[in-house]
Amino acid sequence: MDPIRVIRGMRDLLPEQTRWWRWMEQRLDGVMDRYGYAEIRTPVLEHTGLFARSIGQETDIVAKEMYTFADRDGSSLSLRPEGTAAVVRSFIENNLGKKEPLHRLFYRGPMFRHERPQKGRYRQFYQLGAELFGSAHPSADVEIIEVAVGCLQAIGLTDFSLELNTQGCPVCRPGYREQLTAYLREHERQLCTDCRRRLASNPLRVLDCKQAACTAVAEAAPHLLDHACDDCRQQFDQVRAGLEKLGIGGRLNHRMVRGLDYYNRTTFELLAAGLGAQNAVAGGGRYDGLVESMGGIPTPAVGFAAGLDRIVLLLEQQVAEPERPPLLFIAAQPGYWLETLPLLQQLRQAGFTAVNDVRQGSFKSQLKRADRLGARLVLLLGQDEIEQGTVTIKDMQAPSDSERKQWQVERGGLLQEIGGFLER
Ligand SMILES: [Zn+2]
Ligand SMILES: [Zn+2]
Repeated sequence: MDPIRVIRGMRDLLPEQTRWWRWMEQRLDGVMDRYGYAEIRTPVLEHTGLFARSIGQETDIVAKEMYTFADRDGSSLSLRPEGTAAVVRSFIENNLGKKEPLHRLFYRGPMFRHERPQKGRYRQFYQLGAELFGSAHPSADVEIIEVAVGCLQAIGLTDFSLELNTQGCPVCRPGYREQLTAYLREHERQLCTDCRRRLASNPLRVLDCKQAACTAVAEAAPHLLDHACDDCRQQFDQVRAGLEKLGIGGRLNHRMVRGLDYYNRTTFELLAAGLGAQNAVAGGGRYDGLVESMGGIPTPAVGFAAGLDRIVLLLEQQVAEPERPPLLFIAAQPGYWLETLPLLQQLRQAGFTAVNDVRQGSFKSQLKRADRLGARLVLLLGQDEIEQGTVTIKDMQAPSDSERKQWQVERGGLLQEIGGFLER
């Protein structure tokens, strides 16, 4: 019988990978703690209508990429393709903004999109995101960008750049949209078929099309910042001033857009070197209209999401391997395995990583296993040791057995001996 394989575009994270993930996640959680962001966990399944309403029925994500299926009662459910929609739903549903309008929330977990799989892009992928609800002030935008940058710095990534733009607001964007549409109509024949369609439905999306022909047209398109109202322009200047104060800087990218109406003002992306075309590792911006459009009380908000799969790829390329705790291996002469149990218990209670050979083969095979597992120390329990109340410690550092030092210690002084030895 053929064994069943993992679903295309999805993958297992094996111990060689999860140690990177766990190392990274600990540090990222630490960043969230330091900035006062509290974790929110929402289900991976939601009513399809949530995403149609928040992300937009017309978007590629909702129209083509969601895992959508009928529940047993016939209602339409979807696996979440991103994190913000559910956080906003929960924010509204749980009345979080009622007593205190200001909330700092973060989430971390798997998202699902039926895209063409490639390096760094999977159909189940992982995101970390933060959302700051309740402030329209530029200091909130600056904070969110600072948190995103802080996440990359906390895991030792330094080779990345920040790009910024403004999306304007309901006051100034319609005028810009007209200008842009008029310009794009003049160049319609150069655009790809997708963009010709977008021209009517969502002309701003033409600006970030990756097709070479469209890029050329987009380069010369009118800039939103030149058509922004005074409020939007001031907001953007303040955000840039804040980032300047923090030494973060950032480059203006006129072509970075979000196509949907509730996105407004600040948008940003963090781009990393070493990933080729898929170089955006985090992105976000302001979405002051979303909470209200989803049925909540009007609540300004700004947030970002980071793609953890790509970030792990960078870590593996650029950052020194996370250290493993030293492994202690208990080897006992056959027949004495019961004696290993209280010793293991004692070591683990003291915080050491300790295992024995649960196959309990010959003494020799136990030592071989200790070698394969990369044990730092082997603790030997033979008849002599058990009769004398001692343990023999074997230092596995040297590559060959003849060079490996070993010495005997009293059971009572074992923890201290190991602690002292490992610190050296
Ligand atoms: Zn405006
Ligand atoms: Zn195009």
